[in-house]
Amino acid sequence: PRHLGDLRPGRLAGPRDLLALGALSARDLLAPVRLLKRGEDRTTRTALAAAGFSEEFVERFFRPFLSGVFLEDELETSARFFHLVWRSMLRGNLCLPAEGIGAVPRLLADALPAGTVRLERAVAALTDDGVELVTGAELPARAVVVATGPGPAAVLLPGLDVPAYRVVTTYYHVGARSPLAEPTLLTDTRGRFLNTCVLTEVVPGYAPAGLSLIATSVLGEDTPGRERAVREALGDAYGADSDGWDLLTSRTVRDALPVMTPPQPLGRTARVAPGRYVCGDHRATGSVQGALASGARAAREVARDLGR
Ligand SMILES: Cc1cc2nc3c(=O)[nH]c(=O)nc-3n(C[C@H](O)[C@H](O)[C@H](O)COP(=O)(O)OP(=O)(O)OC[C@H]3O[C@@H](n4cnc5c(N)ncnc54)[C@H](O)[C@@H]3O)c2cc1C
Repeated sequence: PRHLGDLRPGRLAGPRDLLALGALSARDLLAPVRLLKRGEDRTTRTALAAAGFSEEFVERFFRPFLSGVFLEDELETSARFFHLVWRSMLRGNLCLPAEGIGAVPRLLADALPAGTVRLERAVAALTDDGVELVTGAELPARAVVVATGPGPAAVLLPGLDVPAYRVVTTYYHVGARSPLAEPTLLTDTRGRFLNTCVLTEVVPGYAPAGLSLIATSVLGEDTPGRERAVREALGDAYGADSDGWDLLTSRTVRDALPVMTPPQPLGRTARVAPGRYVCGDHRATGSVQGALASGARAAREVARDLGR
């Protein structure tokens, strides 16, 4: 409510786009999920045009923001997925765990009996009786759930249908002063970066006291000269002198998100063969939420098949 003034006609958008935004948001916020999943799927760009948004507003607002969510900048991603994402964003807040994203699997593992989860045991192959680790050791199991991400899953389960993946690179810069004293995600209508955020404004503990950590993502690989261009764009976006920032590191993730062009089923069975299951974002939607939903479905199917 504190920021409702930003929605005054003419600031972010004209009356027509504001009306369309209100109608779309009310529906996505309140309608049952099964309604959002129903009907013929189409691209997000087509769905936004059908919802009455002007091309100009789509380019100025939706495209810059959603490029960072979909990891593609043509709005070719499934509208079903878009509506689910929009619903989640209206119902909750963007957030970062104070202890990093690893805190989420740690929380899940801590709820299990001690010794259930064994780390650093890479699986080399599935056997008739369970799995074989890269060390050569064998672990017997009545059911095996492959939750490895798409590349290793296709190796462990030959013939498995896996989608192509989107690539993202994130640059981490360190500055002596925060270029923006608020926990806000900035996007770029000129497409020079997907989004950028002063992480230490969200979680101060992400850097030692007195330093600011700025994370900026771009589509695709880290190519020669790209960091320089991004740094210049950041100086412009933040209105700050970015020349003095140190590049802490950059990370390219080649299997960051599955390609989700329409039609998207939004959920597929985990069963691939007797005693063999697969789960992960590529079996549901490209998100932590999708990965969790897919894992829960695999658990239900295993329990049913084992007669539990
Ligand atoms: C930069 C970035 C930002 C993102 N931001 C968000 C966000 O804000 N919100 C959101 O919802 N989603 C976000 N995502 C997407 C989200 O991270 C993924 O959708 C999610 O992590 C997929 O989970 P998963 O369990 O399917 O696979 P993964 O998280 O990839 O887990 C697979 C696991 O299997 C292990 N493994 C691989 N091979 C083997 C093997 N042979 N034996 C044993 N283990 C193996 C791997 O080590 C890994 O731990 C982001 C992704 C990236 C790259």
